[in-house]
Amino acid sequence: MTRRIVHVDMDAFYASIEIRDQPDLAALPVAVIATARRGAVMTANYVARRFGVRSAMPVHVALNRCPDLVLLPQRMEVYRGVSAQLQEVFTRYTDLVEPLALDEAYLDVTQQSSTLADAEQLARAIQAEILTETRLTSSAGVSVNKFLAKLASGLHKPSGLTVIAPEEVDTLLTRLLIEDFYGIGLVTAGKLQAPGIRTGAQLRSRSLAELQAVLGAGKLAPRLHGLARGVDERPVEAHREAQSIGVERTFDQNLTTREALLAELPGIAVEVAARMARRGYVGRTVVLKLRYADWRPVTRRRTWTQPLGTAEDLADAASALLTSELPVEQGVRLLGVSVVNLSRQEGS
Ligand SMILES: [Mg+2]
Repeated sequence: MTRRIVHVDMDAFYASIEIRDQPDLAALPVAVIATARRGAVMTANYVARRFGVRSAMPVHVALNRCPDLVLLPQRMEVYRGVSAQLQEVFTRYTDLVEPLALDEAYLDVTQQSSTLADAEQLARAIQAEILTETRLTSSAGVSVNKFLAKLASGLHKPSGLTVIAPEEVDTLLTRLLIEDFYGIGLVTAGKLQAPGIRTGAQLRSRSLAELQAVLGAGKLAPRLHGLARGVDERPVEAHREAQSIGVERTFDQNLTTREALLAELPGIAVEVAARMARRGYVGRTVVLKLRYADWRPVTRRRTWTQPLGTAEDLADAASALLTSELPVEQGVRLLGVSVVNLSRQEGS
């Protein structure tokens, strides 16, 4: 069976979000650090990477390499919010979305495309939509399976879009070092290097029996035997339930009165309700989001005892949040309503 798989991976995700929200930092080397688990870099921007700063590097080592490094504490809530936005974009293209991390996912677009060139167009559209909605860049890889799609997305970062066609696989894989094969960690790499397997070409030259002699009788040897030939049959598994369903609207001109914003809510609520119905969800928490003229986001949420699902209920809930809680005089450029605390509607 021929499949078409897209792998989307955000560029320097946490650091890019921080720079989006503090544009003055754009030209500086920046690293996001986990303050709770003191001492390691979570993500560095590309400026910092030029100094040799890397993820998981101890902060003192990073500062040694780059004394001017700007250290920022993580804001996991914000990153999760952006991740939910990404998920929402992905599900507009296919239901077969498998998140790998907050900033990465596989999408199976076999049904939505008939050639890899079609799938490439879809990937380009997804990247553009991500950029519009989050003001963040991503890299995408397109190929016939998960392994090759993920390999592709890493080839031209940042803002890359790379297709690996079946006829390119042999040349590409023989040149790889074994540690660049997805899933080969330090331990496995060490085992393979001992008998002289250091490159994709060398990996491929070994029979399955020879690999089993090195790696044991488990799943790893057959898996690597396949990967060395570009074979990866793992399906994209969309096991995750939706976390949030919502719609946002950006205005050409900032809205400065509550009445103007209230007038937008019924239309947005109709779209949210339609999306929830299509996917069979109701939800108990309604989230209202505004972005002010200076891009500052504000959200307000309220949880109801009964699940909501109709457009009327959602519009009422969002109107209540807007009326009671939010100043709007400074101008609002984006208004969004989403529902979290989702559950499956009975009977669907
Ligand atoms: Mg990433």
